[in-house]
Amino acid sequence: MAFQIITSRCTQCFACEFECPVTAIRFKGENYVIGPKKCIECEGYFETQQCAAVCPVPKTCVPA
Ligand code: SF4
Ligand code: SF4
Repeated sequence: MAFQIITSRCTQCFACEFECPVTAIRFKGENYVIGPKKCIECEGYFETQQCAAVCPVPKTCVPA
């Protein structure tokens, strides 16, 4: 399982990029994306998914 960023909602504030413990979030093309193979849903690092926790836009970092 992995989280994904809903591109149409993302304001590209980059808050999430540096919070990911496994650097699964990167700017690709014109959008921030979560690498589905890299995202571990923060398991073993945090109780909650950090991208979703810091994202200022509701329902933007969500389970894929
Ligand atoms: S859920 Fe965690 S591991 Fe996955 S992209 Fe978000 S911060 Fe990174
Ligand atoms: S924190 Fe949310 S709005 Fe900001 S870049 Fe990440 S997904 Fe987009």
